This record gives sequence, C-alpha cells and structure tokens, in this order.
Amino acid sequence: MKISSPRGTSDILPCHIAEWHQLETTARTLFKTYGYSEIRTPVFEDTGLFKRSLGESTEVVNKQLLEIKSQRAEGASDDAGFALRPEGTAPVVRAYNQYDLGREEFLSKLFYMGPMFRGERPQKGRLREFHQIGAEAIGRGANHPLLDAEIIALCVKLLKGFGLNDFKLKINSLGSAEDKKNFANWLRAELKGKIDHLGDESKSQYERNVFRLLDSKDPACKEVINTLEIGSRHLSEAGLKYFEEVKKGLDQLGVVYEVSSHLVRGLDYYTHTVFEIAYAGLGAQDALGAGGRYNGLIEQLGGGDRRFPEQVGAMGFALGMERILLALEAQGKLVQAKRFLDVFVVAGKPEYETETFGLVHELRQGGLAADMDFGRGRAFKKQFEQANKLGARFVIILGEEELKNATVGVKNMTTGEQTIVDRKKAVEELSRQLERL
Ligand code: AMP
Repeated sequence: MKISSPRGTSDILPCHIAEWHQLETTARTLFKTYGYSEIRTPVFEDTGLFKRSLGESTEVVNKQLLEIKSQRAEGASDDAGFALRPEGTAPVVRAYNQYDLGREEFLSKLFYMGPMFRGERPQKGRLREFHQIGAEAIGRGANHPLLDAEIIALCVKLLKGFGLNDFKLKINSLGSAEDKKNFANWLRAELKGKIDHLGDESKSQYERNVFRLLDSKDPACKEVINTLEIGSRHLSEAGLKYFEEVKKGLDQLGVVYEVSSHLVRGLDYYTHTVFEIAYAGLGAQDALGAGGRYNGLIEQLGGGDRRFPEQVGAMGFALGMERILLALEAQGKLVQAKRFLDVFVVAGKPEYETETFGLVHELRQGGLAADMDFGRGRAFKKQFEQANKLGARFVIILGEEELKNATVGVKNMTTGEQTIVDRKKAVEELSRQLERL
C-alpha cells in the first residue's frame, strides 16, 4: 500500500519550487531594505510558551495545538511536553528574551520564514502544515507609531513585490491594555442578553474572549454584532492619538487602508494597532496575512529590563505563503519553473560512458551546470531527448573522432549550430558562448 503525506500537508515538488524561491528571494531583498535580519527558531517549543502567549482561550491553543506526546518530551519546562509551533511570534519573543537581545539592541528587527502547524480541519487555503513569512520589531525603540506604519507598509510592499494587487488592507486599534479591558467590559455590557439565543460557541466566546464575537462567522452572531456602534469609543485620548499618528504615517507612505472597528484578531496579546490583509478571490480563507502590536508580550514571557525605564515595545506580522501562491495563481501571475542546464554530454557509443562521466566532471569543475544520461547505453536520440527535457543550452557529443583527436563536438541547442572545440578549451569556449546567450 502506498503511503501518502498526512492530510492537510503537502509536498513542494521541484516543478513548483521556483514559485517558492521567488517569494523567498523577494522577501529577503525587501527585508534587507527595511533593516530586518533573519532569525530561525525550532519548529517545536515548550507547550507552555504558546499557552502563556496566545492565551488559553484562543482557538489556536484550545483546539489546534499539535502537541508531541512522547516519553522523550520529558524535560519540557512545565512537564506539559512540546508542541509544534502554530505561529512565529511567541518563539521569536522567547528567543529575544532568552538571548537578552535588548541589551545590545535598542530596536531588534527580525524576520523569519518557515513551516507552522495547526490541527485545523483541512480545506482550500487551510492546512495543518503551512508556511509563513513574518517580521517582528522588538525593543525599547519599538514604541513609535511610525514603526507601526512602517511595518504595515512593509507587509503591503511584500505582497506587491510578489506581484499581487487588488488585496485589501484593514486596520484598527485596540488601544492600550487598559483600553482593551474597558473595551471588553463595554462589549460584554452591550451584548448582555442579546446573545442568549446564539449557539454554545458564541456563548463560550462571550465568556472567555468576547473580542472573538466581533469577527464571528456565525450569521446570527454577525447580525447582533452589526447593530453595535463601536467606532473608537474604547480608546483613551492617548490611544486615539497613537492611532492617528499611525494613520498619518500610512498616508505619508501612500498606503491605502480601510479602518474597520470590527477587526480585533484572535490572539490575546494584541494591543493598539492591528491589521489584516485579505484577497477576496480566495473565498472563505481570504486572509493573506495579519499582524499588530503586542507590547505586553515581552514582559509576559519573562523579558523586559529593569535597567531601562522604557517599556519594551513590539509589533509584527505574518503572511501565509500558500495563500499568497493561491492568490498569484488566481491572478495568473505564477512564475513557471524553467529547468535549465548549461551542457549535456552525449556518449556516442555505450563504451564511451566512462569518458563521458569524466568530461561531465571536468565541466562541473569549471563551474558549468553539466549532466549526462545514466541510461546504460541508451540510444543517441534518447540522450538528446533527455538533454531537451533538462533544458540544456548546449550538447557535447563524444564520438570516436572526437576522442581520437582530443576534441568535442558542441551543439548550440537554440540555433542548431555545431562546432568542434579542443577538449582542453571546452570549459572556456562554452563559458564564452553561454555569456553571449
Ligand atoms: P494568523 O497567525 O492566524 O494571523 O495567520 C497569519 C496568516 O497565516 C493568515 O493570514 C494566513 O495567510 C496564514 N495561515 C494561518 N493559518 C493557516 C492555515 N491553517 N493554512 C494556511 N495558511 C494559514
């Protein structure tokens, strides 16, 4: 019986790898422009890290955490074992605290790319293993509203850099931790008595994480929520001023956005600015990425520094790579993977195989992408077919004459032109011709 990859995961085959490389290369270049350095953290962490950061009432922790149940999980700090990381922010903050990055750096600008894991019910655009590109700006120097604007602009710039357009950016502000508390109380008071007829899920959200009701997908719940006039009533004067400055920064950079007072984000740790970018063409799973400010998380995870009076601030985002590729596909903008090879060496006769093998090695030593047919004496024609499949620009033919005269026959696969070249000069001559292509 054939074994398939687990449901909700997928293999990235060589015919699709160019699409991924394009995203990764574009992202690396842009991150550099904005001063971000790459950080790589383990794909699993102590389960406690996610419980403490994301919040026990969140879906990601409550229902979707993929925990590693194993005798070998022994040694995790709170004996709860390990969990595959469902997102990148908590691990980055853990590393920031663990290595005390704030001691050296006033502002740490970090980015990551890699797989994340959530035990979701798989569907289009919703996987159990998916990949994110994310960025986090953390430090005493990360408290400026213009940094919020810069990060949102960077996120938008990335999507545009990948070739996407027609996506929508929504922003909102939850205010300070204090504002957020008031907001939750106000929401509970407003919704009291109005949600009794709703399902258990909504009732439980009301109790445990009332913000989740704001972006509920339940139509009955949506109807109730739509009657609320939220605006920016929950924001204190300072919170309001902060949000105004973020918006001004975005305007200055020409970033187009819509303010949505129903946007809250599911995770506990957000304060102040939150944002989400969606592409309608993706249907139900339309979020390409999201992010926000999470000032309190550093201290919540044991960081912060008493030597410095300023609070450590933090702001970041994560983009879903699979969804970006789906959106690019929908917009007809996926890059086609092109195979290419500088030169393919064809053995004129099966007994020239060893000579062919040696020549391929010489060509590679000379820095050329070279290959041969390992088909044990396959016909000349088959070898040429293989050369074409691999996208070879040149084919070298090793025949009796060439071996006798220490030469090689070089065929330009684009023009069909054939030349005889001194074997010792093959690398030099091919490199010269390749440069001209
Ligand atoms: P989140 O951490 O939930 O805000 O996710 C950030 C982005 O990651 C989302 O906007 C999606 O693009 C992507 N994402 C989150 N969960 C999944 C999933 N299960 N499958 C595929 N992409 C996901």
